[in-house]
Amino acid sequence: MNDYKTTEIESLISLDMFDWSSLFAISIVDLQSFEVVYINNAMKTIMANSNAKNCWEAKYGLQSPCMWCKAQELINKAKLTTNDSQSEQYATYENFNEGANKWYQIQEKLTELKNGHQYLISFALDISIQKEAQSQFINSHVQLRQKTLALEEARKQLKIQATQDPLTGLYNRRYLQDVSQKLINLARREKQDLSVIMLDIDKFKNINDSYGHGTGDAVIKRLASLLQKYSRKSDVISRIGGEEFAILLPNTSKKGAYGVAMKITEMVGKQKVKINKTDSLQFTISSGIDGVDLESDQNLDAALTRADSAMYQAKTTGRNKVILND
Ligand code: GH3
Ligand code: MG
Ligand code: MG
Repeated sequence: MNDYKTTEIESLISLDMFDWSSLFAISIVDLQSFEVVYINNAMKTIMANSNAKNCWEAKYGLQSPCMWCKAQELINKAKLTTNDSQSEQYATYENFNEGANKWYQIQEKLTELKNGHQYLISFALDISIQKEAQSQFINSHVQLRQKTLALEEARKQLKIQATQDPLTGLYNRRYLQDVSQKLINLARREKQDLSVIMLDIDKFKNINDSYGHGTGDAVIKRLASLLQKYSRKSDVISRIGGEEFAILLPNTSKKGAYGVAMKITEMVGKQKVKINKTDSLQFTISSGIDGVDLESDQNLDAALTRADSAMYQAKTTGRNKVILND
């Protein structure tokens, strides 16, 4: 600590100290006349017209008071301050000076002198470099955020593509394999049945050959939406080949799965798929059913193979039917 009294220190400080080499542009405005009564050299270099009478014209080349002027605000604040005879208050803000093409941080102070006039003392510090750095930082932050969002979206899309069949929106074979192990473990733990339906559109090659691939696709989509409509939310419906589907039914006996397959077969029989403006086609499916043997089946493959051979049996014995393995 030093021994100076405050008044002695104050006597060391004069506005001249801030001239020539100063980073601060200083001005003092008489708030009675709005005349600029003092400027330092730093302020002179950025003023629009140092000979002008009014501060707004002198400082900024404006024809009317500045929109951002803090004088009135400071005067109001000063009125509210009762315990300070000097009635001094401060305002700090940032301002872009269009003439100088620079950003300034401005600190202003209201002072009342013995002549009864109020004066606004302004210190302006050029902060253009900081502002530029700040805006670059914000820009790169925004860009980074946009890239992160795009990456997240791409990741989501990839995840969907990895598990979904694009034509029908049903799960693909890979997802069926992935989820089946979890469902087998769950069925073992809960001692619940787990059944599988394999189904395939009959004579689908004829549909393609007769009406074109577009109509073939429409048939596949129609079947897919029926499968969704007539199975449970917990069932895993997947398109495992061109016109071949597998449904994994948790907590469902073989008999229960048979009922589901029969219902789907019946509803397929009622479908009419348009082939042109006036005509439509009908189609049928064949299905095979078996259950996962929770004691001997290590994974889904064996049950799928058994259901597939039941389906083959349906194909070779007339099609448009459901075969349930004993
Ligand atoms: P089956 O009753 O014995 O099942 O006879 P099928 O004609 O249905 O069976 P096959 O396996 O001979 O023919 C299946 C056809 O499905 C052949 C293939 O070109 C067609 N296919 C496979 N994927 C698609 C697809 O995504 N869209 C269309 N339109 N056709 C497909
Ligand atoms: Mg077929
Ligand atoms: Mg097939």
